[in-house]
Order: sequence, then structure tokens, then C-alpha cells
Amino acid sequence: MAQHFLLSTKARTLSLKQVFRMSEDEAYGLFCDMRWHENDGEPICPRCGCSEAYHISTRRKFKCVACHHQFSVTSGTIFASRKMSFGDLLAAIVIFVNGAKGIAALQLSRDLDCQYKTAFVLTHKLREAMAQEQKGRELTGIVEIDGCYLGGYVKPENKKEDRKDLRLSVNRSGKRQCVVIMRERGGKSLPFIVRHEGDAVPYVRGHVGTLATIHADEGTGWDALHAGWDTRRVNHSVQFMDKGACTNQAESYFSRLRRMESGTHHHIAGPYLFAYAGECSWREDNRRVDNGSQAMMVADAAMGTPVSRTWKGYWQR
Ligand SMILES: [Zn+2]
Repeated sequence: MAQHFLLSTKARTLSLKQVFRMSEDEAYGLFCDMRWHENDGEPICPRCGCSEAYHISTRRKFKCVACHHQFSVTSGTIFASRKMSFGDLLAAIVIFVNGAKGIAALQLSRDLDCQYKTAFVLTHKLREAMAQEQKGRELTGIVEIDGCYLGGYVKPENKKEDRKDLRLSVNRSGKRQCVVIMRERGGKSLPFIVRHEGDAVPYVRGHVGTLATIHADEGTGWDALHAGWDTRRVNHSVQFMDKGACTNQAESYFSRLRRMESGTHHHIAGPYLFAYAGECSWREDNRRVDNGSQAMMVADAAMGTPVSRTWKGYWQR
């Protein structure tokens, strides 16, 4: 029997051991290569685009020959104003991509000996970089669609006679949200958040090509899809696969997302649900990519992601 990809040596191409063996200069050089790969790692002024700059090597900064603007390798990227060393930053990325069910900020803070706040913001910046890849994505071919409700847990009362019927919407917290995943069979996925499954149809219209074939379950929210696409349905109360129609790839996404919540994060706050859903989608899409390439993808995306509006100076507010 063939060996599973994740058990093979091909899946392990970058280890923490290697990262920690790297000198700070080597790690720094790696970030320069990623930021300015079109210029062989030599700086390009982010303000005027000039490719000549003075090196202020003692501070790892540059000064543009043309406009005298001072900048560093992380200026204008999601890692702007970083305080962490480049080696630690790289280690954080490796730890982050190695966690199949995500990585808790507390765990990262222990691994890197940094504050919880630092780790929390850093992981969210990495999620933002991952999401950059999904921007403007359009899905084609066979697209599976399904929804899953998360959050808004209501603790049952102690005594049986005081307990309420939590199936009724009046007894719920109103914080429950629906993660909808659209997933190409054998391709990419795209999540978004709505209140109810049926609210997803306008989003589907914006991101799924009209020539696609959609597979969905029996949920009545999906009835509207028939008007726009060739839509196949599968009734899950009867069977999981009906003449090739199934949403098993979407279910496997939810399986990872649920395990991320129950196994790692324990609680995902409502406003951040989209960030975690996006991270999960990235992990699903790249599950067969070796971890070294994954780390480089994330680092590369981070260097191409502008300063975060959500996470810049987050604890100073
Ligand atoms: Zn300049």
C-alpha cells in the first residue's frame, strides 16, 4: 500500500530545528528575498518604486536614493513595526502551519516565550495574510456547498425543571452564526459567514461561475440555487451520496473547523469567526502541500499583505 503523503518525508521539508539553526541574518535575508523577489532581494522603495537605496546595515534599514524615504523590509506589510526578531517570526510561521487544527495563541506564546497578546495578534495577522490568497476567488467545475452553525452556546440550567427548550429560537442567544463553505471538487474553497444558510445565495452568485455544477444537501435554503446553476441535491436523511451528488468535501472542511474549535480554540468569538473559517479553508486547500512550502506561502503572503487595519496597534486602543 502506498504511504500516506503526510507520513512521507516529502511532507516534512522545514523544521523548527532548521529555523533555530539559522542565524538572524539568514532569516532576515529570507524575508528580503520574499519581499523583493523581482529584484533578487535588493530593496525597492515602497514610496517611489526606485530600486536604488543606501543600506543602513546597523539598523537593517534602507534610505531611498531618489526620495530619501527610510524603510525596512517589513515597512508597509502586515509585519510593519514588528518587535520580534526575524528568526522568531519565521519560527512562529512554522509552528502555525504545522498545527493541522490551528494553533492556540497561548501555546505559541509559550513556544516562543512572548506575551500572549503578541502571539494573539501575530496569529491573526497570519490569518489575514492567508485570506489575501482567497480574495476575488471564483469557483468553477463541481462546487459543493454546505452550511454549519457555530457559536452562541447557551448553558443549560442546573435543575431539570428550570431547563429551557434550546431548540426554540426564543431561548437561544441570537449569536449563532452560519459558516457556509463553497468548495470545488479537487480544488479551492471559499468560506463566508451569514445568519442563516439561505442568506448565502447572493454570495454564491458573486463567487461561483454560472457554468459550475452545484451540489448541495436537502436544506430548503438551497432551493433558490436551481434558478442560477445546474444544481444536484442529496438528501442526507436518506443517503450521503446520490448518483455522484454529495457534499462530502464540504463536510470534511466542517470536520476540521469543528475540531479547530473543540480541540484548539475552545471558543471562537463571533467577530473573529470569519478569520478562523478562512484559516481552516487555507489549511484544507493546502493539506497536501509540504510544510516548508506552506510556511513560505504564508510568509510570502504576509510580505504582500498591507498593514492591517484591524490588528495594527491593537492593544494600544
Ligand atoms: Zn523612494
